[in-house]
Amino acid sequence: MEKLTVRDFDPQGKRVLMRVDFNVPIEDGKVKDDSRIRAALPTIHYLLEHGAAVILMSHLGRPKGKVVESFRLRPVAQWLSGLLKLPVPSTGDPLGIGTRDAVARLKPGQVLMLENLRFHPEEEANEDEYAKTLASYGDVYVNDAFGTAHRAHASTVGVTKYLPAYAGLLMEAEIAALSNLLEKVAHPFAAVIGGAKVSGKLGVLNHLMDKVDTFVVGGGMANTFLVARGYTVGKSLLERELVEEAKQILEKADKKGVQFVLPTDVVVAKEVTRGAEHKIVPVTKIPNSWSAVDIGPASIEAFKAALDPAKTVFWNGPLGVFEVPTFGDGTRAIARQLAAKADEGLTVVVGGGDSVAAVEELGLTDKMTHISTGGGASLEFMEGRELPGISVLLDRAKVPAGAGKR
Ligand code: ADP
Ligand code: MG
Repeated sequence: MEKLTVRDFDPQGKRVLMRVDFNVPIEDGKVKDDSRIRAALPTIHYLLEHGAAVILMSHLGRPKGKVVESFRLRPVAQWLSGLLKLPVPSTGDPLGIGTRDAVARLKPGQVLMLENLRFHPEEEANEDEYAKTLASYGDVYVNDAFGTAHRAHASTVGVTKYLPAYAGLLMEAEIAALSNLLEKVAHPFAAVIGGAKVSGKLGVLNHLMDKVDTFVVGGGMANTFLVARGYTVGKSLLERELVEEAKQILEKADKKGVQFVLPTDVVVAKEVTRGAEHKIVPVTKIPNSWSAVDIGPASIEAFKAALDPAKTVFWNGPLGVFEVPTFGDGTRAIARQLAAKADEGLTVVVGGGDSVAAVEELGLTDKMTHISTGGGASLEFMEGRELPGISVLLDRAKVPAGAGKR
């Protein structure tokens, strides 16, 4: 369902309460990676240029309902201030009289950031009074926090009981890119699935079974499937209790004529650490006391060949332990291939915290069609689940009378 966006109301003179996902890494009081902050800039700029006062709210880390000094949003507000070239004060608490006053003083064209929403347990509990207080700060609610859309919290769901709720431009782009994959994708469509969390990803494989032409499975994921095919994987990462389900997925793919590409050779290491002894072996010969840490060179070629005819690729999960550079060949090779093909018109959508980090490390972010800012959220979306933070946004089809008013 298409959602109303910031372009569907007149921001002039309104206080816009905007949920962002500024859950960024901070080290020594400095923002280490500001990509999530930058991703929200188009919406913030749009609102400011159209005469709104913007009240930003986010969580940071897991303070578990208490004030934790290292999770204060001040460094984030300062960073944003630098990007916007505007002062961005942050309140000392999302609640309280000081915050209410700061909101009341806010003028069109100005920005205020509420303190970390998760300093109160009511945020994650989606407690109604808390949501109501947050909502009282704004005339309109905008959600640009795709990365938190799979959570029903006070700031993502609760507030929408009290304010008309619109998607921000980032939210809109995320929904468009991911729903295109599920609804009107150009074929051949291939999904490259890797990484470590098999349990979290079998749902994605199941949901994509009816939509893709090809699955390419590598990384830690592959081991469970290799065992399902009857191989042994030594000390490799394996979710043994999921082998049965992996077998069923392989059978389903077979029945449906979906190509399912697994590694034929792997890099095995004695330890999953930097500098560990390692060698290339066929998957039929993974030694008992070694771990598969990357796909091998023959697999890289086979993966590339399988992806070659694709018009659309969804990629989630690195194909090896890429944090150790020696075990990152597979991930790098596939990332480069997809980036090069994207230049020639291939649609490439990358989702998942670590896969995105790998693409960023290679400086290939701009080459890809869409890089999702939501790890867990993009996976749940690709599983076909409804995300609570998206469902509550106003639908384009049925605009309630009085939307935009209070
Ligand atoms: P994403 O965040 O992209 O969804 P995951 O969180 O599922 O991906 O997995 C990322 C992790 O998977 C990385 O830390 C990487 O080191 C690990 N990984 C990839 N391949 C292997 C492997 N063969 N064995 C163990 N871990 C692996
Ligand atoms: Mg991850």
